[in-house]
Amino acid sequence: IIKITDLHFSYNGLKVLKGVTHSFEKNTLTAITGPSGKGKSTFLTTLNRLWEDVPGAALQGCVELKIAEKWRDVYASSMDIAALRRMVGMVFQIPNPLPMSIFRNMAFPLKLAGVKEKDQVQAKVQEALERAFLWDEVKDRLHSSALELSGGQQQRLCIARALILEPMVLLFDEPTSSLDYQAAGMIEDLLVSLKESCTVLMVSHYLDQVSRIADSRLELADGKLLLSNISR
Ligand code: ATP
Ligand code: MG
Repeated sequence: IIKITDLHFSYNGLKVLKGVTHSFEKNTLTAITGPSGKGKSTFLTTLNRLWEDVPGAALQGCVELKIAEKWRDVYASSMDIAALRRMVGMVFQIPNPLPMSIFRNMAFPLKLAGVKEKDQVQAKVQEALERAFLWDEVKDRLHSSALELSGGQQQRLCIARALILEPMVLLFDEPTSSLDYQAAGMIEDLLVSLKESCTVLMVSHYLDQVSRIADSRLELADGKLLLSNISR
């Protein structure tokens, strides 16, 4: 569903990706591992063009996404960037709820996408929160501030928010690094369940976590992605 060919990326001349070629299949969970500072987060942002606001950043190579059975060049001038980012969602390492209520955090992407009908908004918010295993914990406090939630709850809220527009690809940058063991387990179950409807890429530092939930592992080394073993 994603095809990357000879991708190069640099920040002000600092070469981070040096010829990445890889295809990601539909309904799989791929883990990306590798030492700190080698470009894992950067790689994720090349898939939804999130790096483009960084001054001095430059990309070469080809990223294609299969949309409605047709391969589309992500960097073609005809690509609608807002639509691309709806299709390729991203969840950051540190949860970033907006300083507004839980409900409004969830409804925000729907508003941007033009979904206005009240019952539909309500139903989609509930469904996404259920999928992120958060609904039962927040259903009685939907109108309190999202900033009052615990770290693990905020992470699940951000995942629910990323899910609400039903993206085809979801990118997770170290989704459990700020969480305790129990919350991390919940997120792991959630990531596995997402494979049914999306293609999932996850950056992780934890090889035991990778072996529990990933279908394959890619190690980012020397600017390239190398298929690596998962020890089970
Ligand atoms: P970590 O495991 O610590 O999160 P990472 O593998 O995700 O590391 P990146 O964040 O992708 O690494 O960074 C790769 C390199 O690019 C680093 O040397 C970093 O300093 C540099 N870099 C990242 N973002 C920027 C930016 N906005 N401007 C300039 N350089 C950057
Ligand atoms: Mg990173």
